[in-house]
Amino acid sequence: MLDFLKRILIVALMAICVGLILIGGRAEAAENSINKETNEWTFPAKGEISDVFDSRGGIHKGLDIAGKYKSGVYAVADGKVVRSYYSGSYGNVIFIHHDNGYETVYAHLNKRIVNEGQKVKKGDKIGLMGNTGQSTGIHLHFEVHKGKWKIHKENAIDPFLVFGKGEIGQYVFALNHDPYGVVNVSGKLTVSETKTNNAARAFIGKNIEVGI
Ligand SMILES: [Zn+2]
Repeated sequence: MLDFLKRILIVALMAICVGLILIGGRAEAAENSINKETNEWTFPAKGEISDVFDSRGGIHKGLDIAGKYKSGVYAVADGKVVRSYYSGSYGNVIFIHHDNGYETVYAHLNKRIVNEGQKVKKGDKIGLMGNTGQSTGIHLHFEVHKGKWKIHKENAIDPFLVFGKGEIGQYVFALNHDPYGVVNVSGKLTVSETKTNNAARAFIGKNIEVGI
């Protein structure tokens, strides 16, 4: 009898292991397809990452970039502006629908400079960074949805899956696919393998306008 139980236990453990491998594989496959579909995108704003996806107990479904007041906010890819309006929570907000089915959201803008129905190209300036709506400081709240934006944001994905992992406090640069640039001595923006931004931080700390 004991032997029988032991066998059942072993079979159950093996089933769990296989299940975990399958789930892991599926998550990896989903990540790979996101990478493939968004590998041409460029980052929407310059500043410091001030909050990340799924924070605040899982309710924060975007990435926050705190930058200069009225600095540029750019479309991450070609698409069509499907909404451009003032929302009580998002403030001045723009929704862009991209051809591959993704939607991106740019919130708390000081100013919107594109209208609903307008086609935009990757890197087009669509607004200025601000502090409108339910916002406690100057920043861009940026969302990526794999599919349509929904009220409960079921399609929201972590923007780090598109642009590579980052962390709060990290400086990021606009208009590059890899936003984690490091500024070299000549003031040129170079992409860092290590993604450490101490050089950028030091440079920006001197209030020198570099990169984009
Ligand atoms: Zn946010």
